[in-house]
Amino acid sequence: MPKRILVIDDETINQKLIKNLLKGDQFEVVTVDNGTKGVKAYFDSIGKSPFDLILLDIVMPDMSGIEVLKKIREEEKSRGIKYGYGSSIPIIMLTASKESWMDAFDGGCDDYLLKPFKNEQILNKIKEKINV
Ligand SMILES: [Mg+2]
Repeated sequence: MPKRILVIDDETINQKLIKNLLKGDQFEVVTVDNGTKGVKAYFDSIGKSPFDLILLDIVMPDMSGIEVLKKIREEEKSRGIKYGYGSSIPIIMLTASKESWMDAFDGGCDDYLLKPFKNEQILNKIKEKINV
C-alpha cells in the first residue's frame, strides 16, 4: 500500500517539486493550494482513506499553515487522539522563515523543513516519521 501524503502549499512550483520527488509506487500524493482545501481534504479523509503524513506550508493567503495545523490537532483531540502518539498524523511544516517555527511547534507540528529544501531532506524527514 502506498503511503498517502497530503501537500498543502499555495505555490505550484513546490507542489510539483514534491510530487515529482515522491513519484513512484511508495507514495500517493495529493496536493491542494490553500488552507481551506487542506482542512477539507484532511476531514474528508477521516475514516475513509486517511493520510499518513502532511506537508504543510506556513505562509498561505487564505488560511495560514498554523491555523490549518491547529484545526487538525483540535479535530484529533476531539477524537481522543493525543498529539505525537499512535494515530496522530505526522505534520511537517514548510517555511522560509525561522520565526514561524516556534508557533508551529506550539501548534503541534512534528517537524519542519526550511525552504528552499533539498530533495533528500524531504525524503529523510518523511522516512523519519513513517515507515516506507
Ligand atoms: Mg506559501
